[in-house]
Amino acid sequence: MEKEVCVFWFRRDLRLEDNHGLFQALNQHEFVLPIFIFDKNILDRLEDEDDARVSFIRSEIVNLNQQLGSYNSGIYTQYGTPEEVLDTLNKSFLVKAVYTNHDYEPYAKERDKQISKFLESKGIQFQTFKDQVIFEKGEVLKDDGKPYTVFTPYSNKWKKRFSEHGIRQYNTEHLMDRFLKEFDCPQIPTLSEMGFIQSSIDIPDKILNTNVVKNYKDQRDFPAIMGTSRLSVHLRFGTVSIRQLVIESKDLSETWLNELIWREFYQMILWHFPQVVNNAFKPAYDNIPWINSQENFKAWCEGKTGYPIVDAGMRELKATGFMHNRVRMITSSFLIKHLLIDWRWGEAWFARYLLDFELASNNGGWQWAASSGCDAAPYFRVFNPYLQTKKFDPRLEYINKWVPELNSLKEYPKPIVEHDFARKRVLETYKKALNS
Ligand code: FAD
Repeated sequence: MEKEVCVFWFRRDLRLEDNHGLFQALNQHEFVLPIFIFDKNILDRLEDEDDARVSFIRSEIVNLNQQLGSYNSGIYTQYGTPEEVLDTLNKSFLVKAVYTNHDYEPYAKERDKQISKFLESKGIQFQTFKDQVIFEKGEVLKDDGKPYTVFTPYSNKWKKRFSEHGIRQYNTEHLMDRFLKEFDCPQIPTLSEMGFIQSSIDIPDKILNTNVVKNYKDQRDFPAIMGTSRLSVHLRFGTVSIRQLVIESKDLSETWLNELIWREFYQMILWHFPQVVNNAFKPAYDNIPWINSQENFKAWCEGKTGYPIVDAGMRELKATGFMHNRVRMITSSFLIKHLLIDWRWGEAWFARYLLDFELASNNGGWQWAASSGCDAAPYFRVFNPYLQTKKFDPRLEYINKWVPELNSLKEYPKPIVEHDFARKRVLETYKKALNS
């Protein structure tokens, strides 16, 4: 008789170690079939054929496949919609259950609702587990049961819960012989079969540099030095475990731990207030009359605003898929406040190029800069790009790297807007819109 299998569906948890859903599948079932779906619904919306995230995901699937090969198994990978792929799979295997990890974005929530119905109609169990965060959804709430909208009390409660509950890791090592062996595993689709080409962008290592964490508080704001972990892309795709990172770092730097908590804070906000995807968290901020100049937006995107720190950041983003956090704050503030361009335009540009693009954190970051989000910068805070440069890139090392023409006789554009004028204009515009 054919073996009954439990399918484990990898999504943003591309690792075998300390993977909660995978652990449950292996622990509860004798035959586990690992799968990955290159989701057509997501991939077909991407604008660039050399999208670095697609290249990265594919190379991580190849890695997983190799690791599974040493257990005579492999990862069943298809390009299609999740429903199509799971339907085909169900015709080739005797599928008893599908296990996967939680995903909190609106598309994912809707997808999982549909998949759950579909599988149920076939008599297949669908089980999902918390994996990508320490605390999710309603696990850290105010005493009255409502979600927090301010970071500091949220983080205090988070830490309290953490010290009470500790962390449980999910060791899968001793369960590896439960992966289904020697099945007919399709070839992993090539990038070109899915309409993509290899990206030339390099991915940072997935190793936590403990020296970086120890010095984080003093060094994290200087874009010219390696003062931050560069692990965001790995947290995004689950090539590292959040539990492992917290365990390795928790006694080294409270400041760094706070950043991991910001990540969970924004995920919690997105879960409870999904309207932030399209609207300002504070509704009054949807009344701001943006100028939305196409020409200025283009200059910002191309790194040609005439403000070197802004241009350096925008060029770093395009060339590497990364932008330093301090510079994300400066460039986003500049687009919104100096140019009076709708924060959603900038949010979409970042979403297109950031390797670590995460709906919750990106939206949170942009709404913070627009002053429209929860616990955001007050609207009268307008970063001065020159002062920011003086403080955080005093020797112009970061700027010289990305804007080399500043030092040569080559033409560098004049500022597209004058700072004092822009500052005054945004303050008046915000004040008027918020009081109307
Ligand atoms: P580290 O400084 O080493 O921090 C460790 C980890 O904590 C990060 O990898 C990240 O997962 C998390 N983290 C750090 N800062 C924040 C923060 N402010 N908010 C939420 N999580 C944080 N981060 C994303 O992961 N994806 C995004 O799409 C994203 N968009 C942003 C847009 C704007 C406008 C701004 C201002 C910030 C955005 N951030 C985003 C937050 C932050 O800039 C990046 O997480 C950070 O720069 C990643 O670098 P790192 O891995 O070296 O971080």
